[in-house]
Amino acid sequence: NKQVILVSYPKDWVIEDNLRIEETDIHLSLKPGCGHVLLQTLWASVDPYLRWRMQESKEGLYAQPFQLGKPIVVRAVSKVIASDHQEIHVGEFVAGPISLGEYALVEGGQGLWKVDPNLAPLSYYLGLLAFTGAPGLTAWAGLNLIGEPKPGDEFFVSAAAGAVGLVVGQLAKLKGCRVVGSVGSDDKVELLKKEFGYDDAFNYKKEVNWDATLGKYFPQGIDIYFENVGGRMLEAVLNHINLNGRIPVCGMLSSYNQEWTEQEGVRNLQNILEKCVKMQGFIVSHHFHHLSTYIQEVAGYLKEGKIKYKEHVTEGLENFAKSFIGMLKGANFGKVVVHISDP
Ligand code: NDP
Repeated sequence: NKQVILVSYPKDWVIEDNLRIEETDIHLSLKPGCGHVLLQTLWASVDPYLRWRMQESKEGLYAQPFQLGKPIVVRAVSKVIASDHQEIHVGEFVAGPISLGEYALVEGGQGLWKVDPNLAPLSYYLGLLAFTGAPGLTAWAGLNLIGEPKPGDEFFVSAAAGAVGLVVGQLAKLKGCRVVGSVGSDDKVELLKKEFGYDDAFNYKKEVNWDATLGKYFPQGIDIYFENVGGRMLEAVLNHINLNGRIPVCGMLSSYNQEWTEQEGVRNLQNILEKCVKMQGFIVSHHFHHLSTYIQEVAGYLKEGKIKYKEHVTEGLENFAKSFIGMLKGANFGKVVVHISDP
């Protein structure tokens, strides 16, 4: 069984040598009575939080660091090929965390959810329809529970062409907001405007004076900033946020490769006070009780063609590291998934 093993912690950016494919013994024999489930991995999810887990220690981390010499744990969609679990049966499809490899053994079926291959393509259960670490539910929860969108609101999202960004921009548009996104290439700008209904978008690598850029794209100021990147972009936003603005803090991608002591400070936090801004972080797993409301709302939009979903697919377990590094550097448009095998 080929597995993806963490062999060293990245110093700043992840490099391919941090991960290695190794043949390992998975103890394929199931022990009767332990509720084990043996899975064939079909699709693996590539997510920014994996970078957080690739550090030796981190205070306050909501998930434990990965151990050196062990496979990394990712969200995956898999087929059950053997089972000692009462409720999970051979031939069924499940989504949930696994030790990344061609096959995985999950004790007691922990964290696994059955998924229906007839309802949607199986890989969608890692993105739009995922239960854990779900970009779709993340977008919905941050927007609705913290952003509190109203028709006519000026809405800004960074990392707008990513898994979370693409969904949140479309949801904000459906709530009647004027939606603008920042992305790292001109192609992404065009796609957001032409295919995903964004009112406007800009390339933050080209229009580098972000304070002036936001002034240009938001002459009326910003009511909601869906925060995915942090750092200097947050600082620029705070100069343009409106009275009673809202900032759902979903992620801070610009700092994931740095220790906090190396990060640039945000110098104008006083605007939060003066503009009575609500700025709140959130973790999607705290909002699973909203899942049925989310699925109902978004499944409806999908059916009516009001929302589009896009995936960025890489082939093969051996290309997982490449795909992960590419995502951190902005090579993707949409949710990044790796296709490992067919059922
Ligand atoms: P994406 O699919 O958005 O991939 C990351 C994208 O971020 C890249 O494509 C790149 O695109 C952009 N990016 C990378 N570095 C920077 C930078 N320094 N400045 C600006 N943009 C950058 O990933 P996700 O949609 O999965 O995640 C988006 C955010 O949501 C992350 O911060 C993640 O941690 C967070 N998240 C939070 C959750 C929660 O529960 N709070 C759950 C899931 C995700 P570009 O070409 O535009 O640079």
